Amino acid sequence: AKQLGRDLVCEYSTDDMRRMEDRRMLGIRLRHAMQHDELHLVYQPEIRSSDRAVIGFEALLRWNSPEMGLVMPERFIPVAEALGLMPELGGWVLDRACAQSRAWMDAGLGDFFVAVNVSAQQIQRGNFAEQVADTLRRHGLPADRLELELTESALLENVDRALHSMQQLSTLGVHLSFDDFGTGYSSLSYLRQFHVDKLKIDKSFVFDIPRDASSIAIANTVVAIGHQLRMTVIAEGVETAEQAQLLTDMGCDALQGYLFSRPMKAQAVAEWLADYQI
Ligand code: C2E
Ligand code: CA
Ligand code: CA
Ligand code: CA
Repeated sequence: AKQLGRDLVCEYSTDDMRRMEDRRMLGIRLRHAMQHDELHLVYQPEIRSSDRAVIGFEALLRWNSPEMGLVMPERFIPVAEALGLMPELGGWVLDRACAQSRAWMDAGLGDFFVAVNVSAQQIQRGNFAEQVADTLRRHGLPADRLELELTESALLENVDRALHSMQQLSTLGVHLSFDDFGTGYSSLSYLRQFHVDKLKIDKSFVFDIPRDASSIAIANTVVAIGHQLRMTVIAEGVETAEQAQLLTDMGCDALQGYLFSRPMKAQAVAEWLADYQI
């Protein structure tokens, strides 16, 4: 019995410890990565449905680790959040994205905005809007060239603080959008509390278009609600021409997905734009 008992305890805690050890290791490496230039941003275009013109780029974080290779954000951002590294990491993303947007502006590449994902720890900080204003000023970037993507969970952590930041950001002239729209628990009720310029239909709905009638109905409804509330609506995860056509026919204002481009390094953007056929 003793033998069995020890085995059981061991099996359970080894697994648990491995997970904690993984996180701890990832955290240590991430701190190192932030100081050693292992992080970079990739950019994915957002396309206006009506004429298929490029209207902006979403910045997405990548980590090129010497030990682990390319690490995707879904793996390390939760760890960064848990360790409280997100204000710093998010601040870095904001700074790099604004610098890049300014460089594109100076190169006369077009009238694009850059969209940046914001995590709970950022929006919940009292000085977030100030940090954004400061970043814009440092790069001489007009506020309307920046869009911030917010998720329900980031906002709901502390509604009053999120509202306060959002109010200040709107006053600055920064555009705000709801990311992953429809995947949360209270998408509809938080539309009443928080005012944004744009809704982004999550790719989980787009993937099942046109196969799944409910996904089509949901996309249709998000477009209708968004327009009634005078917001624009974008769909992410658009991979096929058929999806693009159906979403365009529904009145969805913009599209983003592998159909147009995968996220790419900043250096690749000019060439991609030159080759891009409307
Ligand atoms: P998200 O904000 O919902 O970003 C969309 C994700 O879908 C991106 O994954 C993008 O590469 C991927 N995607 C775009 N088009 C397609 C498509 O047509 N098909 C498929 N299968 N996927 C597509 P990625 O880059 O791995 O990012 C995952 C998530 O990590 C993001 O989801 C976002 O929540 C988070 N994230 C990424 N960068 C940042 C960042 O700088 N800050 C914060 N706070 N979160 C970030
Ligand atoms: Ca996003
Ligand atoms: Ca999403
Ligand atoms: Ca997301």
